[in-house]
Amino acid sequence: MTKFEVSRSFAEEMDSKDPLKKFRERFYIPKLKNGDDGIYLCGNSLGLQPKSIRTHLEQELKDWENLAVEGHFHAKRPWMPYHEFLTEKTARLVGAKPIEVVNMNSLTVNLHLMMVSFYRPTATRYKVLMEHTAFPSDQYAVQSQIAFHHFDAKDAILEVVPRTGEDVIRTEDIEGLIEKEGKNIALILMGGINYYSGQAYDMERITKAGHAQGCAVGFDLAHAAGNLVLKLHEWDVDFAVWCSYKYLNSGPGSIAGCFVHERHARKSDRPRFAGWWGHDKKTRFIMGPDFIPIEGAEGWQLSNPPILSMAAVNASLEIFDEAGMENIRAKGDLLTGYLESIIREIAGTSITIITPTDRNQRGNQLSLRIHGNGKKFHQKLTDSGVFCDWREPDVVRVAPAPLYNSFMDVYRFSEILREAI
Ligand SMILES: *Cc1c(COP(=O)(O)O)cnc(C)c1O
Repeated sequence: MTKFEVSRSFAEEMDSKDPLKKFRERFYIPKLKNGDDGIYLCGNSLGLQPKSIRTHLEQELKDWENLAVEGHFHAKRPWMPYHEFLTEKTARLVGAKPIEVVNMNSLTVNLHLMMVSFYRPTATRYKVLMEHTAFPSDQYAVQSQIAFHHFDAKDAILEVVPRTGEDVIRTEDIEGLIEKEGKNIALILMGGINYYSGQAYDMERITKAGHAQGCAVGFDLAHAAGNLVLKLHEWDVDFAVWCSYKYLNSGPGSIAGCFVHERHARKSDRPRFAGWWGHDKKTRFIMGPDFIPIEGAEGWQLSNPPILSMAAVNASLEIFDEAGMENIRAKGDLLTGYLESIIREIAGTSITIITPTDRNQRGNQLSLRIHGNGKKFHQKLTDSGVFCDWREPDVVRVAPAPLYNSFMDVYRFSEILREAI
């Protein structure tokens, strides 16, 4: 265990020992009015821009300019198979086999596509188990899927909640509910990390408990991809979806990711909403009337993808590949631990950190419950150069991102926190 100190010299020493420190200069750090770097603790919401994205975008613009339609085959990275350039890197990022991943659409679209295939309710087994305070888009998506199958969302959604007086959900309570209600549950859909509390769920145990009851199990990894070390294949998850603009730094609204476990790769009889880009590549351009899916996650693609957005994701994934997710997580642990110890020391009882202290139950985000005037407190932080966000009714979220945040960022945060308290 590293012993943390709230001092400038400690932060400097940690930075000098940081094996990932060189990555910071690969990103644009937003500047404050006085020219200093802002203290950016919002990478869980929108990751910073990697400088290399511009080069990747310019390449595609140039190929379009010079080659036009021929770019599908003759661009530096031909557009026709473009998504394949991302496959191996994506697989490494989420602990999957290449056949299990694809980048396509946006997160909520992918969630719907996955539910079309994996939420197959029957008269007796129709419930969806979700975490309490799931992200609203996930709630709307699930509610509408339930209604689409003519069930009542009020009856069909089973929420697992924290115990009275607690902020995070105990894994044994999730397992308990799955065991009790399992025969009625068609789908378990949880976040990898809850966007509000910052709690990381035990995906392996939840998947095991779900499968023991015959439920399909999927995860929304919006806050987990690029943050936690994931082992989706090994954990035996049925499907997962994530966006690329939070920890993955691929730009606002950029193209999302999707995982479908290999055991579903060749089952073409599973219902799905199909499009031509999911059709067998060898015969796609025969343009026949019968859909033959590509084996694996690619078979869920609908359209030819937005190359400019793919280029941004590709540039960003190169950085993750180079840094290595294990290293990123190791630094994230230290940064977040440092931030946590600073907040405890300076804020005392005026702030409750609702995110678990256990490193296996969190990533880089700390959710701070502010006792007293939270909005004013958040405003003070913002005015002093901290980028962080406010979530009603009383929570400020702070998330140091290991690729570009430094220990000095966290130390500078401590000085501002001391003022704001
Ligand atoms: C950020 C986030 C989303 C956003 O969905 P989009 O379709 O990308 O707009 C959805 N779910 C969760 C859990 C999120 O954190």
